[in-house]
Amino acid sequence: MAEKEKTAGELRREALCYAPKNGYDRLTAEDEAALQRYCEDYKRFLDAGKTERECVSEAIRQAEAKGFRPFVRGMELKSGDKIYRSNRGKSLMLAVVGSRPLSEGVNIGAAHIDSPRLDLKPNPLYEDSELAYFKTHYYGGLRKYQWVSIPLELHGVVARKDGSVVEVAIGGRPGDPLFTINDLLPHLGVEQSKKPLSEAIPAETLNILVGSRPFRDDEGAERVKLAVLDLLHQKYGITEEDFISAELEVVPAFRAVDIGFDRSLIGAYGHDDRVCAYAEFAALLELEIPSRTAVCILADKEEIGSEGVSGMQSAAFDTFMSDLCDSQKVPLKTCYEKSFCLSADVTAAYDPNYADVYEKRNSARINYGMGLCKYTGARGKSGASDASAEVVAYVRRILDEAGVFWQMAELGKVDAGGGGTVACFMANRDIDTLDAGVPVLAMHAPFETVSKLDCYMTYKGMKAVYAAE
Ligand code: MN
Ligand code: MN
Repeated sequence: MAEKEKTAGELRREALCYAPKNGYDRLTAEDEAALQRYCEDYKRFLDAGKTERECVSEAIRQAEAKGFRPFVRGMELKSGDKIYRSNRGKSLMLAVVGSRPLSEGVNIGAAHIDSPRLDLKPNPLYEDSELAYFKTHYYGGLRKYQWVSIPLELHGVVARKDGSVVEVAIGGRPGDPLFTINDLLPHLGVEQSKKPLSEAIPAETLNILVGSRPFRDDEGAERVKLAVLDLLHQKYGITEEDFISAELEVVPAFRAVDIGFDRSLIGAYGHDDRVCAYAEFAALLELEIPSRTAVCILADKEEIGSEGVSGMQSAAFDTFMSDLCDSQKVPLKTCYEKSFCLSADVTAAYDPNYADVYEKRNSARINYGMGLCKYTGARGKSGASDASAEVVAYVRRILDEAGVFWQMAELGKVDAGGGGTVACFMANRDIDTLDAGVPVLAMHAPFETVSKLDCYMTYKGMKAVYAAE
């Protein structure tokens, strides 16, 4: 059938109007196949890394298999060299040395691998009414009511006074026991149900049930607690005092799974921000000799403001970069001012169930690709780095040239709330930075949902950023 001739209006509309299309209406067969493979790898990465430390270990394992080696200060580097530096096992910086000198800048991908969770308090274990519990202090912005009545795992480390560190991972393997926080039964929840969501579950009631069986043949007090301590001592060689120097994180016991009859979505804990972290990491692993040096950061502590020695505000990143620059006798500032950073972090996907908090014209949509976020912040862009128009144009160009599907993203209605990323800390270093990442449904929930197409397009977008001249 001959194509109908377009009217003048149709032609002008095509030429002038911005009309984003659903990615599935544009996806090539080649991209479709690559998308499925990529998402299976991503799901495996999620199941292997439930904490920032586990993500670092898994990333190092994969990087070493691809020829990356630890970067030691003073090491001579040539183009094509693949290096990494672990910052205390909690964040990771990797680089592939490019053919152009560092004085011409680097291409950086910066994402975070910490996710909202419940941390154990330094003195967590107690017994009440012959039940044993762990006290917790929540980490990051979470809605407390979502964390009750779900299965939970315990991951982390206990550092003993003698310097030895015990790794704990309970719940990741088949047959492992799990933990939970019991909610109130509806029969007795009349008063609680009248409270606002933010008050119904006070933080000090987020206590993890960890045991109920008393120590045998003992007349003393707190026999259930004693029995738990006895088990922990048998398995890990730790005592109650050792909790004081531990980082034990309670995380949801969900594996990454396909969602939907069409399997077009992935449900999992920790998409924020492992979905972008994995995208920039997987893209880096495939580089041979990029033109500009490619740098990938898997940062810690973003969810609590990027503070601390392993957060994006830490000098550890500047030290890594200046060590790199020293190998070419380039001043760090010369490198920074010519560099580009894609702050790869998730954004809120438009959710028709909660349409009133979004401004539809400027919200990211599921299956429309990587979401570019010129600014984040709250109450009039406060806390945003607000990328320059020129920087956004640059990214539009390289993404379009690489066939990456992307869209604009603003996190909800103005004054509906807001959020931040590591972008401002990179921009503060005099590095041109733009936020971009995967749109997420139910962000910060124990079980978040993303689109496979958006995951893949973010990975493809990171490849384009690293490959840019
Ligand atoms: Mn994030
Ligand atoms: Mn977050």
